[in-house]
Amino acid sequence: MELKGPHYKDYMKRAVVKPDRKVHLSDFDTGWAQSENLKDLGEKKAQKLLEEMLAENRKTLKKVQEILYADQGYAILIILQGMDTAGKDGTIRHVMSGVNPQGCRVSGFKVPTAEEHSHHFLWRCNPLLPRRGEIGIFNRSYYEDVLVVKVHPDRLEELPDQYGHRRDGFWEGRYEDINAFEKHLVRNGTVILKFFLHISKKEQKKRLLDRLSEEDKYWKFSLGDLAERNHWDQYTDAYEKMLYATSTGYAPWFVVPADYKWVARTFVADVIVSAIEGLNLSYPRLTESEIDELKKAKRTLESE
Ligand code: AMP
Ligand code: MG
Repeated sequence: MELKGPHYKDYMKRAVVKPDRKVHLSDFDTGWAQSENLKDLGEKKAQKLLEEMLAENRKTLKKVQEILYADQGYAILIILQGMDTAGKDGTIRHVMSGVNPQGCRVSGFKVPTAEEHSHHFLWRCNPLLPRRGEIGIFNRSYYEDVLVVKVHPDRLEELPDQYGHRRDGFWEGRYEDINAFEKHLVRNGTVILKFFLHISKKEQKKRLLDRLSEEDKYWKFSLGDLAERNHWDQYTDAYEKMLYATSTGYAPWFVVPADYKWVARTFVADVIVSAIEGLNLSYPRLTESEIDELKKAKRTLESE
C-alpha cells in the first residue's frame, strides 16, 4: 500500500501495515530509536525534539481543524487500539488538547450492553461516527469484536448456529464486513486513520506496577487487565491477523511504537496533521455579491 500525497513522511510509510504481507509484530520496534537521525541524537535529545514536534503539531492541528470545519466536506475518523496500558487515553488527551471541542468527539467502546448485543456488531458505532467537518476518535472500536471477542469467544453475542464462530471463515467474514463498512465510509467523505499502539510485554508490566504504586492510581488498575495479560500471545495473534486483513489502501493501519509516550503521541499527531493537510482544504471563498452584501452590512452597523 502507498500512502498518497507528499505530506506523508518516510517513517510513517514504514509504519503502515502492507495488506499483501503477513504481519509479525515482533518485526515492529516498540522503542524510541526509530530512525538513524533519532539514534544519532540519543534518547534525551530525541525526546526534546519529538516533544517540540508535538507542540508544533498541536498548533497546526488547531488550525487545520478550523478549516476542516469551515469546509464541511470531510469527516475524520481516528481509531485507537492497543493492549491494556498501551496509552490510548493519554494519547487522545495530549494530541487533541488544543482543538476546539465543538468539532471533535471522543467515544470509548466498553463491553457491549444487552441492547448493543441484540444488534449486529457494527451497529453501535453508527451514531458515534463523526459528522462532516468533525474529527471523531474511537478509543477502542468495532475492532474489539475481532480481538477480545476472538480471544474469548464466550463473549460473542448469541448467533444462530449457522452464523456462529464455529463456522469456517467466521472471523474472515468479520474482517470482510469491516473492510466493506470502511469502504462505504470513505466513499462518503470520511478519512479513516487507524493506530495500533504497540507496547512490549515488559513495558506493560512496568505500567501495571505503576498503577499499583500509589493509592491515587489504583482506580486505573483493573484486575481484568492482569487476566488479559495472561493471554498476551493470543492477543498478539489476533492483532496480527486483524492488521493483515484490515489494513487497506483506503483505511490504513499504522503500527505505532508506544513504549515511550513521547514517541507515540508525536507519531499520532504527526500523521493526523499530515492527513488533513493532504486534503488541501481552504476556507470557503465568498462570491463578489456575497462580499458586497457583507460590506453593506458593515456600513449599516457603522452608521447606527
Ligand atoms: P477500558 O478501555 O479500559 O475502559 O476497557 C473497556 C473494556 O471493554 C475492555 O476490556 C474491552 O476489551 C472491553 N470491550 C470493548 N468492546 C468489547 C466488545 N465488543 N466485546 C467485549 N468486550 C469489549
Ligand atoms: Mg482498561
